[in-house]
Amino acid sequence: MPELPEVETIRRDLTPLLVGRRVARVRIHAGGERLAVTDPPRTLERRLQGRGVVAIGRQGKYLLLRLDDGLTWVIHLRMTGSIVHALADAPPGRFERARIDLDDGATLRFNDLRKFGTWHLVEDAAEAMPHSGPDALSEAFTPEWLLSRLRGRQTSVKAVLLDQSVCAGVGNIYADEACWIASIDPRTEASRVGLTRAKRLHAAVLETLRASLADRGSSFSDYRDGLGAEGLHHVRVHVFRREGQPCERCGAAILKARVAGRGTHFCPRCQRK
Ligand SMILES: [Zn+2]
Repeated sequence: MPELPEVETIRRDLTPLLVGRRVARVRIHAGGERLAVTDPPRTLERRLQGRGVVAIGRQGKYLLLRLDDGLTWVIHLRMTGSIVHALADAPPGRFERARIDLDDGATLRFNDLRKFGTWHLVEDAAEAMPHSGPDALSEAFTPEWLLSRLRGRQTSVKAVLLDQSVCAGVGNIYADEACWIASIDPRTEASRVGLTRAKRLHAAVLETLRASLADRGSSFSDYRDGLGAEGLHHVRVHVFRREGQPCERCGAAILKARVAGRGTHFCPRCQRK
């Protein structure tokens, strides 16, 4: 699933191509109807037609297209979604669910193998993302905030990191990477993490997100940037999907276990409970 670095890469790619442009036409293809959450597909197509894009924001894993009528087009890519800028005559991909024609003759293609992606058209973006807390790269995400969310929780550190109300934008890849960087076992009970380790974990979250962003994200499976290319970070991860391979820090074999309902990768020797 695209996480913060991937969605931010798309935002940066699309901003110069989209801001100031107008939506000439939107077509949600047969089979892609589930995209449209706030309106039936034909209504949503009609409401978006003719709208200008004023800015593109991001909150966690949500892309926020601010439109010239004051509404926000909130896009979530979920498991396998991508949104790619392409020429009008580029052939549709196998999993193209929608096509947006722009007033300059270019297009955006929304591709989504699993069809969990969503579009909301709303007055207040918060309506579309009711559980979203501070974005992990925002100033509101501080060590003190993280500590306050770990405190008293009878769950794992991994589960807290995955909680979008705690640090929006962190998902399975970067939660595992952050725990490795901070030398914390992801199975550690959250309430056992004190200020020193919370600070280390906070710094580790920022470190892994920024490193991936510099690499334009990770393409373990379907992720593509706003121009259709893969990210580069998946070959530089420390633990994610490296089970059985040696830990870069201590040489022990990376383990995979189920934590917080997700496949979780960690070093059993140098990541401490
Ligand atoms: Zn290790």
